Amino acid sequence: MNTTTSERLFERAQQTIPGGVNSPVRAFTSVGRSPLFIARAHGSKLWDVDGNEFIDYVGSWGPMILGHAHPAVVEALQKAIVDGTSFGAATLREIEMAELIAKLMPSIEMVRMVNSGTEATMSAVRLARAFTKREKIIKFEGCYHGHADSFLISAGSGAMTLGIPDSPGVTQSIAADTLTATYNDLQSVRRMIDAHPGQIAAMIVEPIVGNMGCVPPADGFLQGLRTLCTTHGIVFILDEVMTGFRVAPGGAQQLYNIEPDLTTLGKIIGGGLPVGAYGGKKEIMKLIAPSGPVYQAGTLSGNPLAMAAGLETLQILNATPDVYVVLEERAAQLAEGMKQIIDRHHLPLTQNRVGSMFTLFFTRERVTDFTSAKRSDTARFGRYFNAMLGKGVYLAPSQFEAAFISTAHTRGEIEHTLAAAEESLVSAFSM
Ligand SMILES: *Cc1c(COP(=O)(O)O)cnc(C)c1O
Repeated sequence: MNTTTSERLFERAQQTIPGGVNSPVRAFTSVGRSPLFIARAHGSKLWDVDGNEFIDYVGSWGPMILGHAHPAVVEALQKAIVDGTSFGAATLREIEMAELIAKLMPSIEMVRMVNSGTEATMSAVRLARAFTKREKIIKFEGCYHGHADSFLISAGSGAMTLGIPDSPGVTQSIAADTLTATYNDLQSVRRMIDAHPGQIAAMIVEPIVGNMGCVPPADGFLQGLRTLCTTHGIVFILDEVMTGFRVAPGGAQQLYNIEPDLTTLGKIIGGGLPVGAYGGKKEIMKLIAPSGPVYQAGTLSGNPLAMAAGLETLQILNATPDVYVVLEERAAQLAEGMKQIIDRHHLPLTQNRVGSMFTLFFTRERVTDFTSAKRSDTARFGRYFNAMLGKGVYLAPSQFEAAFISTAHTRGEIEHTLAAAEESLVSAFSM
C-alpha cells in the first residue's frame, strides 16, 4: 500500500498542529504507524489522499449510522446552506429536533442542544449539581464522557489508549469531586455512596461502554444503578452520546428498559456535523437559563446545518425501523464469521457485541470492565490492525474502541472483511 502522500502531510501537520492531529487517537500512535489522511468517503467506504480504498468500521467514531454522504442528508444540507449557515437566533428546525428526540426517547421531556458530547456531559453534571445542591459525582473506570476536567479521571478512549487516563492540568480539587467505581460491579458503587453520604450529585455511565472497547452491561447492573440513584437522591445520567439511536430506535435506555433522569447525546444526532445535546426530566431541565439560574450558552448551538443533518438522520431512522434489523443482521454475520475463525485457529480472542457496535479483544478472558479490557495484547492488536489496513479494512487504530457498522455495509463487504480478518489474524499470531 502506497501511503507517501499521507506521510508527507503528517510531517507537515506536525509543524503547526500538536501531534499533527486534532484528536489524539487519529495519530495512530498505538498501532505503530503514521496516520492516513482521508480525502473522501461514501457509503461504507473511505479513500485516503493516496487513492487507497477502505471499508470503514470507524464511521467517524459513531455518527455515520447511515453511511457517509447519505444522499438525503447531503440534500438536506444543500437546502439548508443556501439560507445561511448561522444566525445565532431561534429556528424552527430546533423545535422539530427537540420534539423528535423527545418522541424517540420518552425519558427526555426537554432538551438543550450544544456542540459536542463533551459539552453535553459537562453541562449535565453542572445541572445535576445545581439540582441536588451537592458536589461529588460518580463515574466508572474506563468510561469516557468527553474531555471536560471532571471526567479525565480513569478515562477511557484515547486517554486509555495513550496511557493517560488521569490528565495533567486537572486540579486536585476537581479530581477529588469525581469518584470512580468499577463497571459491572454494583458493590463498588454501594461502597462509594456509603462513604460519601448525602454528597453525591450525579452518577454518569455509558449504558453500553464503547470507550474501553465494547463492554455490555451485566444483567441487572443498570437497573441496580437506577435503584441506588433513586434511593439516595442522585441524578442518574445515561451518557448515550455513542449508544443513542445506535443500538435501538430509543437508544440503550429502550434496549434495557432504564429510565434515566438525564441523558447526554451527540454523534448520530448531528448526522456527521458537530453536535451534542442533554435532556431529561422537565423538573431538572427547567433550571437551565433562561428559565432557571444554571448558566449554559453557545454561539453555534442549534446551528442550522447541524440541525438539518441531524434531523434528516433521525427522521430516516424513525421512518425506517428496519434499519436496526439490517444492522443486527450485518453485525451478526460478522460476529458469527469471526467466531468461526477464532475456533478454527484456536485464537486467544474475545468478542463483545451489542447490535452494530462491537470489539474484538486480544485476550482469551471475558472483558467486563477496565481491568479485564487492559489485559488485551495491544502489540498484537497493532499487528492485526496494520494487516487489515493493508487489505483495505479501516478499523479504529486502538484496541480500546468500538467498531461500527452502517446501513451501507453490504453482505459482500462483510465477507471481504472476514476473509481479510482470517489472513490478518493468522499472520498477527504467527509472529
Ligand atoms: C464520543 C463520546 C463523548 C464525547 O463526545 P465529543 O463530541 O467527542 O465531545 C462523550 N461520551 C461518550 C460516551 C462518547 O462516546
